[in-house]
Amino acid sequence: MTIDLHMHSTCSDGTFTPAGLVREAKAAGLTHMALTDHDTVEGVAGAREEARRQGIAFLSGLEISAEYQPGTMHILGYGFDETSAPLLERLTSVQRWRDERNPKIVEKLNRLGVVLTLPEVEAVSGGGLVGRPHFAKVLMDKGYVKTRQEAFDRYLAKGGPAYVDKARLSPEESIALIRAAGGVAVLAHPLQLQAADEEALQAIVQALAKAGLQGLECHYRNHAPEDTRRFLALAKSNGLLVTGGSDFHGTNRPGIRLGVGEGTLQVPMECWSALERAASARN
Ligand SMILES: [Zn+2]
Ligand SMILES: [Zn+2]
Repeated sequence: MTIDLHMHSTCSDGTFTPAGLVREAKAAGLTHMALTDHDTVEGVAGAREEARRQGIAFLSGLEISAEYQPGTMHILGYGFDETSAPLLERLTSVQRWRDERNPKIVEKLNRLGVVLTLPEVEAVSGGGLVGRPHFAKVLMDKGYVKTRQEAFDRYLAKGGPAYVDKARLSPEESIALIRAAGGVAVLAHPLQLQAADEEALQAIVQALAKAGLQGLECHYRNHAPEDTRRFLALAKSNGLLVTGGSDFHGTNRPGIRLGVGEGTLQVPMECWSALERAASARN
């Protein structure tokens, strides 16, 4: 039995299509899996169908980027109904905010006297997702700034004159959406929260648990054994179930393999049964 509950397809920033990813999973010897694309459930149905063909047990999944400072807070959802209208509506509006962000940055820069268009910035991104580093590159190329750092300091940094906030769902709403769709809400890779210390981490997890969080991703590709132990204790003291996965992104993140992550990951079978139980209890 090999379990992996965290992976991405071309529907977000992975390099395998949902069905292709399932075939990779089969080749890697996985027996249980969940697809967890960023802020979308587009790939779930296709992956499930292929998983059925390949004889792999499958759970619906997604990974919501929640509003949080100073690090990254990702909330995983499992075992929900991916046709849930409120979930789909909210994910669509998140997508729309993202699409609107870059034109807004262009607008702000134009108003500041910078002559630049979105197609110019898109050309620099090489067809991938467009972000602030690409704006910085164009500002440099056009001679408005000398360095990337200057582009951020003068225009693009958070709070700067050309900054546009990345709209994200709050952690509470992310959890509520997943649960309302019949799913289980889990805090992903707690190290990425960059909590100041153990006490701060405990406080964050407690607040999320109060908001309905049901699980903690204790087994993760780059967790040292002491991290895993620490997070298992944290899950236990907050009454949270335990999950784990590789966060496989295909060739976008070389060195990470399905099921085993950087080589030492091993997700216990109990993670699967606990998730299934929690999901079928329909909250
Ligand atoms: Zn993540
Ligand atoms: Zn991920």
